[in-house]
Amino acid sequence: MAELKERTFIAIKPDGVQRGIIGEIIKRFEMKGFKLVGMKMLQASEDLLMQHYIDLKDRPFFPTLINYMSSGPVVAMVWEGKGVVKTGRVMLGETNPAESKPGTIRGDFCIDVSKNIIHGSDSVESANKEISFLTGLPQT
Ligand code: UDP
Ligand code: MG
Repeated sequence: MAELKERTFIAIKPDGVQRGIIGEIIKRFEMKGFKLVGMKMLQASEDLLMQHYIDLKDRPFFPTLINYMSSGPVVAMVWEGKGVVKTGRVMLGETNPAESKPGTIRGDFCIDVSKNIIHGSDSVESANKEISFLTGLPQT
């Protein structure tokens, strides 16, 4: 039964919140059959975001990414269910909305990689680390 308890970290980014897409995103995950087990709206600090995106710290877009993610509140959520990490990524679409198929969240609601409205963990291991985002505490 262990796989039924799989969890992923999903965050609606500041542009998704500002554009009023919170309900639509929650609806898609609920209709799919996943269970919302935690949710918090918060203004992420630059320190928290730098920790969250630590693997990208040497990429040229890193400063822009931190500015974008701290430009307003985010909605941080934990979703649970069988295969939720992988299926969640499929529901999000590709990192670049231009490569995301219609029917995916990024494919339906955005056009720019630097404003792609939603985050989703890319592995169970990342999810376990990223879920600490809800507490605002550094990842362990
Ligand atoms: N990003 C960007 N430009 C790029 C690649 C990524 O602005 O060329 C941003 C984008 O917001 C993306 C985030 O950095 O969602 C994290 O990048 P990652 O490669 O982890 O993509 P994701 O896992 O979010 O699909
Ligand atoms: Mg990623």
